[in-house]
Amino acid sequence: MYDFIIIGGGILGFSTAMQLAERFPDKKMLLVEKESGPARHQSGHNSGVIHAGVYYAPGSLKARFCLAGNRATREFCDRHKIDYEICGKLLVATNPRELTRMEALWERTAANGLEREWLCAEALAEREPHITGMGALFIPSSGIVDYARVAEAMGDEFQRRGGQIRYDHKVTGLDERAGEVLVTTSQGEYSGRYLVSCSGLMADRVVRLLGRDPGFTICPFRGEYYRLADRHSGIVNHLIYPIPDPSMPFLGVHLTRMIDGSVTVGPNAVLALKREGYRKRDVSLPDMARMFTNPGILKVLGRNFRPGLVELKNSLFRKSYLAEVRKYCPSLALDDLEPWPAGVRAQAVSRDGRLIDDFLFVNTRRTVNVCNAPSPAATSAIPIGRHIVKKVCSIVQAS
Ligand SMILES: Cc1cc2nc3c(=O)[nH]c(=O)nc-3n(C[C@H](O)[C@H](O)[C@H](O)COP(=O)(O)OP(=O)(O)OC[C@H]3O[C@@H](n4cnc5c(N)ncnc54)[C@H](O)[C@@H]3O)c2cc1C
Repeated sequence: MYDFIIIGGGILGFSTAMQLAERFPDKKMLLVEKESGPARHQSGHNSGVIHAGVYYAPGSLKARFCLAGNRATREFCDRHKIDYEICGKLLVATNPRELTRMEALWERTAANGLEREWLCAEALAEREPHITGMGALFIPSSGIVDYARVAEAMGDEFQRRGGQIRYDHKVTGLDERAGEVLVTTSQGEYSGRYLVSCSGLMADRVVRLLGRDPGFTICPFRGEYYRLADRHSGIVNHLIYPIPDPSMPFLGVHLTRMIDGSVTVGPNAVLALKREGYRKRDVSLPDMARMFTNPGILKVLGRNFRPGLVELKNSLFRKSYLAEVRKYCPSLALDDLEPWPAGVRAQAVSRDGRLIDDFLFVNTRRTVNVCNAPSPAATSAIPIGRHIVKKVCSIVQAS
């Protein structure tokens, strides 16, 4: 019997496993992952930004963990010799309404304890000759990294401390009993005293396997990117973001310098018709049937009908997508946008039709389940793992 079983070989599963192995060096641990390698879903398909913590409600888990995670990610990368760069981020206002929103972000960044600088249009043009705007907020602590590399290094650390990893093991059944949790996988059964689930896009389904009603549903949103042609690799010196609508801070395509030297544009946010559907043509009829009969998801779609249509249009027509980025980078043309793989976000939606904003965990007597961990969860992976270890310690003491 294992002391701890962890589901999910993404950055949160590995961060938790690594920190559990550090906290309980003598315990027997197993991590199971359904894919044949690490970080095959969100942790390997993202923008690679080490966020600073600009948008999040002061005092929320996102605000606290992102700030701590920014530091912890850099320290982890230093220790494990993983390339990263703190290149800073510019949030660019392109019209008077965005300038007003920028003032609100100025206040919020103060409340979140961030160093920042207000740039007028001239100062922006000096820093970024290819970017135009009425002003910008400069956040020096934002950076870039390859999160798949970080996740892999965390997995290596877990194994060095005695943990075992089994790939190609899909969890298909869970039975929480007195004294143990029985985990049925595609390759056999395992018993653990305690279980942690970090199953991303499948988070609600794993809670259901425990026989619990999770009270939320995962709604998959595809984030589509383009890559700028190589001749534009030096087009920006920082990460360039638009000023978002505060009610939908995750919308708005950005120019992201990647750690491999390329620059990506994106991501947008379109409803994915399959949980792990990375291509437009990926469709799952059972997933669609569940989505379109879920009252919470239907409410979200109804309330966000207009912005949803705009995202869909930008997804279908490259010209519309380009228009979004040309608002602040007017020199880009259609043939500058080259294909780049999409990611799919796991966004939890409540029964009453809210996009759950903060990180969310659901605990039972012997299990801790990560239920909502969208961006900036990769940045926050180390503090989230630490938080889960604390929760595990308290359920161990209580049992
Ligand atoms: C397009 C996009 C851009 C993003 N950009 C950023 C960014 O720049 N910065 C940032 O901080 N965050 C970003 N994020 C968010 C970040 O990538 C995620 O929050 C983070 O990777 C979540 O990690 P995870 O381990 O919870 O999920 P995942 O990486 O999705 O891992 C979950 C794992 O669980 C496994 N699993 C699921 N069900 C089972 C089962 N039944 N049995 C066994 N295994 C199972 C899956 O196969 C998967 O490997 C972005 C996300 C997306 C999609």
